[in-house]
Amino acid sequence: MRRPILAANWKMNKTCGEASAFASALLPRIAGEDGVEVVIAPPFTALAAVAEAIAGSAVALAAQNVSAEPSGAFTGEISAAMLADLGCRWAIVGHSERRRLYGEDDALVARKARALRSQGLGAIVCVGETLDQREAGRTLAVLNEQLEGSLQELSGEDVPHLVVAYEPVWAIGTGRTADPETAQEVHAHIREKLASRFGADSGSIRIQYGGSVTPENVYALMAQPDVDGALVGGASLDPESFGRIVCFGSEDPSQGS
Ligand code: PEP
Repeated sequence: MRRPILAANWKMNKTCGEASAFASALLPRIAGEDGVEVVIAPPFTALAAVAEAIAGSAVALAAQNVSAEPSGAFTGEISAAMLADLGCRWAIVGHSERRRLYGEDDALVARKARALRSQGLGAIVCVGETLDQREAGRTLAVLNEQLEGSLQELSGEDVPHLVVAYEPVWAIGTGRTADPETAQEVHAHIREKLASRFGADSGSIRIQYGGSVTPENVYALMAQPDVDGALVGGASLDPESFGRIVCFGSEDPSQGS
């Protein structure tokens, strides 16, 4: 049984004050939702503020990125050790915005995932196809390549600390969500790939869906057998909206809506 994981990716949004206010507004809304893991990924500058605001709760702190290097002359970079020091449990790597806007490739994503694991942090590894790739019928081939490349530095020991986020690029920030059946088809494929890469233990790896997730569509997505959570951008900026996503994500799909 995989515990669903719902993560808020704030991207480059929120000052420290706004981040603390969000956390204070969110916590009472999700009190008692113990069936899911809730993760907040603020910008680096607000990590400490969010850490303080969520202290004593079950909400986990995540970063949106990490350096592949352990320390040294890398101006502007943040290491995995620094994230661990701030109380991060997770970091997102390979987000399509980093791949597209900052030229990050699978080999770099793999090194970042390794850097996280070397400091005891979990890695949320993002993969996903563009619209052109989908329309050319290349979705699964693209995902195979991304998974092979991005996970190449992890081993079976890392399995409990790995989450894969399937984020079709055409669905991110567009309001165009993958329909639940499409998401399930891709997630099932990803699960097969993980099984061939990591063996039987890979059944415990959670696969999140990301791309225009809202309180209105999260339940149907998470009712799919291989959708184990959501990585949420726009709809995670508002505590009311993210709180509703967490609550719907906690529902047991087998009990109906
Ligand atoms: C994201 O950036 O990870 C994301 C899924 O964004 P949105 O929910 O806004 O599509």
